[in-house]
Amino acid sequence: MRRAEETVALSRPPRAVPSASVGSALVAWFDRSRRPLPWRRSHDPYSVWVAEVMLQQTRVAQAMPYYERFLARFPTVRSLARAPLPSVLKIWQGAGYYSRARNLHAAARQIVTERRGIFPQTVDELETLPGVGPYIARAIAAIAFDLPVVALEANGRRVAARWWAERGDVRSTAVTKRLVQDLEGVLPRRHPGRFNEALMELGETVCLPSHPDCPRCPVQEHCRAYAILDDPGSLPRRRRRPPRPHVVAAVVVVESGGRYLVQQRAPTGLLGGLYEFPGGKLEPRESPRTAARREWREEVGSPAPGLTYVGVVHHAYSHFTVELHAFGGRIPLQARPPPQSSQAWVRPEELMQLPLPKATEKIAEMLGIVSDRRAREPSRRRPSG
Ligand code: SF4
Repeated sequence: MRRAEETVALSRPPRAVPSASVGSALVAWFDRSRRPLPWRRSHDPYSVWVAEVMLQQTRVAQAMPYYERFLARFPTVRSLARAPLPSVLKIWQGAGYYSRARNLHAAARQIVTERRGIFPQTVDELETLPGVGPYIARAIAAIAFDLPVVALEANGRRVAARWWAERGDVRSTAVTKRLVQDLEGVLPRRHPGRFNEALMELGETVCLPSHPDCPRCPVQEHCRAYAILDDPGSLPRRRRRPPRPHVVAAVVVVESGGRYLVQQRAPTGLLGGLYEFPGGKLEPRESPRTAARREWREEVGSPAPGLTYVGVVHHAYSHFTVELHAFGGRIPLQARPPPQSSQAWVRPEELMQLPLPKATEKIAEMLGIVSDRRAREPSRRRPSG
């Protein structure tokens, strides 16, 4: 039956538009069914901004504890601007994509120093903040200031692609532009912010990527994919992701007088600003032990002490997977090499107050330097030594 419908429907104009009442139907459903998520308690622009940044490339359930922790520690844009960057990275630890935290911090400082703490209110002004692109600017403008704009993220893009049975590449600029225009045509004038939230909510809870729950959908009658396809979940067409690169590295954990040597990564780039033990990637045909000795020599500027193999840690980051071979050693206090500019000899309790990549945290746990529980407790203290 649906096959026959599809044949008929495909002969219709390719871009038939869902009824304009789809917007109000969606908002009414949202008012009845929305989940009580922490970022919905307030529509103040700072909370909306933090939530939208945190939710980029992160699922709601995963982001929730980090959001609560971040807002508890930095409840206002001024408190965030005042904090040193390592404290911000520590609170962010585990949430991934650390450039987001660095940009939040830089943008908070910009708002406080250049705008006397007053949040920008237009899409154009919002886009001048570090890390704020078209989506986040539009989300803040719509949700916090109720401006009539469409903010299209992955969930909304998927829903819209199904409403209009879009067969093009939804990641392309041309298709995104078309979907935004389509959505602007059904945006309810009275509730643009709630419409945007509702669109995301529908994508998160009903119009799921592979298996949309169409029988439960409040706007089923407006959905062209539902009307014409056996499987509305086949749209939008999915691209196969390339496999993540795999990195094999050696890490050297050296203790001297009850302290461990750590170093801070460069402020930008992958895991930027986080602290880790000395070490690095294996060179072609190099063994982990040789790499460990070479890395120590290069980074510390003195020969490595006797090293014992401790074990291997595996971790999957968003952009790559790592396999870290850890080696332990000890240097007498009187022979301890002085730290280079980005390095510090820290006590175990200081180590766990620093922002650490997840894999470094796992190595510290494996070596018994800290307990698992302490590794997850952020604090405001800075390293010494
Ligand atoms: Fe998504 Fe199905 Fe609703 Fe269409 S009818 S919007 S495919 S859940």
